[in-house]
Amino acid sequence: MQYKVIAIDGPAGAGKSTIAKLVADKINYTYIDSGAMYRALTLKVLESSMDLQDKEAIIGISEIVDIDFKEKSIYLDGEVVDKQIREERINKNVSYISAIPEVRRNIVQLQRRISQGKNVVMDGRDVGTVIFPNAFLKFFITASLEERAKRRCTEIEDNGTQADLHDIKSQIEKRDYIDTNREDSPLIQAEDAILIDSSGKSIEEVLKEVLTYIASNGGKIDVV
Ligand code: C5P
Repeated sequence: MQYKVIAIDGPAGAGKSTIAKLVADKINYTYIDSGAMYRALTLKVLESSMDLQDKEAIIGISEIVDIDFKEKSIYLDGEVVDKQIREERINKNVSYISAIPEVRRNIVQLQRRISQGKNVVMDGRDVGTVIFPNAFLKFFITASLEERAKRRCTEIEDNGTQADLHDIKSQIEKRDYIDTNREDSPLIQAEDAILIDSSGKSIEEVLKEVLTYIASNGGKIDVV
């Protein structure tokens, strides 16, 4: 049996993971959050209290790090780290660590291995360009910076924490800048990706749009 990959790439806070999860549920595929893997690695690096300028040491950790997904949770060295990988300290450092080419090589290998033998919906920055250039379908979901920052703010406030729109906006902008301008596998829309601007659209609208593309693809995937 030939397994399929649906790639969903785009900048920070565009709603990729929300859409990717819903799509995976609808078509009975496994959802894999590729960004969570860079976040877990960043957590391990920070917990090891090493010098963040020490690239060799970070590369060393990326060679041995144990990251896995089980029942919708991410495990780092056998422990669930769903909450920790969303902390501020991770948001601030992840893009520096994910820009190291050797780190990317190791994590991409892991991302491909974790996807083996499954139908997968994966979201990230380089899923359609580097991890799975032959993905069955590719989407690039974006939204205006203003809207992405507002959504992130609401998300944080819904979790009971105060959020500063200005801070969040500049943090997203910084992360996008590093992700887009790094030399190795920068954030870019794959030539064959379907562009969806989610500005001003509800989650339901974007989901419907994505599912329509999937369903119109020769009916090769059943939308339930
Ligand atoms: O998707 P998320 O915002 O959680 O990703 C966190 C960070 O991980 C991104 O800002 C980026 O630096 C890195 N990343 C990446 N390639 C991916 C997914 C995420 O470089 N495929």
